[in-house]
Amino acid sequence: MAAVQRIVIENCAIATVDADDTEYATGHVVVAGDRIESLGAGRAPEGLENVVRRIDGTGHLATPGLVNTHHHFYQWITRGLATDHNLFDWLVALYPTWARIDEQMVYAAAQGSLAMMARGGVTTAMDHHYVFPKGTGDLSGAIIRAARETGVRFTLARGSMDRSEKDGGLPPDFAVETLDGALAATEATVDEHHDASFGAMTQIAVAPCSPFSVSTELLTQGAELARRKGVRLHTHGSETVEEEQFCKELFGMGPTDYFESTGWLGEDVWMAHCVHMNDSDIAAFARTGTGVAHCPSSNARLAAGIARVPDMLAAGVPVGLGVDGTASNESGELHTELRNALLVNRLGAHREAALNARQALRLGTFGGAQVLGRAAEIGSLEPGKLADLVLWKLDTLAHASIADPVTALVLGAAAPVTLSLVGGLPVVENSRLLHVDEDAVARSTRAQAQRLARITARA
Ligand SMILES: [Zn+2]
Repeated sequence: MAAVQRIVIENCAIATVDADDTEYATGHVVVAGDRIESLGAGRAPEGLENVVRRIDGTGHLATPGLVNTHHHFYQWITRGLATDHNLFDWLVALYPTWARIDEQMVYAAAQGSLAMMARGGVTTAMDHHYVFPKGTGDLSGAIIRAARETGVRFTLARGSMDRSEKDGGLPPDFAVETLDGALAATEATVDEHHDASFGAMTQIAVAPCSPFSVSTELLTQGAELARRKGVRLHTHGSETVEEEQFCKELFGMGPTDYFESTGWLGEDVWMAHCVHMNDSDIAAFARTGTGVAHCPSSNARLAAGIARVPDMLAAGVPVGLGVDGTASNESGELHTELRNALLVNRLGAHREAALNARQALRLGTFGGAQVLGRAAEIGSLEPGKLADLVLWKLDTLAHASIADPVTALVLGAAAPVTLSLVGGLPVVENSRLLHVDEDAVARSTRAQAQRLARITARA
């Protein structure tokens, strides 16, 4: 058997995001194979064998790779539309376009979304995909292929919609699947692609879209399917006041009570947004261990409101960060969400005590690992964990005069990535993706966006 190969990184600041928030002003990280072998202050130990690469991290901060917990990749080709709408008006404006996507478009959009995430320090990506028009090919397979090619770790939340306008839902009738069709296709995706092993590159979650686009049966039976298969559950929850009204009118209760009645609270569940939560909703999430994907930019873009992240954290709710789909967050970058999470929450009730820079970094790393159910593998730099890490360049004009490296990363401009590793393998070097031709992806996403616009205009 070949001896394990080592990569040594030295002379950088390190924010481990471990349980004690251990940091080193100048330290080292030793990567052996796909794992972190050791880390600490000062230079790496002498006499390490099979060191294939030694990196001088002077002027850099090393952190765990960022973990994105909510996204819709296909929206990469519908950015910049319906820019002045609230959630429901925005959905109704965009559904007719979204219902005309095909495999070629979804593949290009996934490449674009993944490329943008990876070059900004994301090492674990996720896609909540819930639009499956009839006869459009293997969309899940195309998305997973794009993730493998980019080199990042990936969760596909196989979404679905079966409550259309004729059943009181929001999507048009032609944009939804049947209950049985959605469940069968979701189960097939789990069987074909889900890897439950330590260090898995691909995992699948069961993810009916939202209370206003999904039947009660799909929620209930989706939860049963996920538990039978041992995979996680994901959906949108408590995003806007309009959703709260919808649930009260249709189900006679608010979203959190509705989710509880359908089996959708639990430590195997994470939900996007959770903006309109009262104290008892937050207590229910804490009691059941239900996780939250906080999406501050999207919530601001769609005028949804401010999620009560400080209250959730105080109650013990696991919280990660999400960019959300890029039709409601055109930047598609997670590292800017660190800053936006801090800023948006400081506009809420807790003011300057809402979140600090370390807490924001924790949301984007360990918090994300928690809500994806992978806290034992990723989310912090600790010996034995997977070597998913990022070396941020903080010695140029944008950051060099900022007093503290974690503050520079969170509150400063989006920092360039000198190196990102996923399972010890380089994915980004000197701000360039190693496995994807960024310029070719830019051209193909533009071409597919134009094709989709033409098809929609003709319909
Ligand atoms: Zn979303």
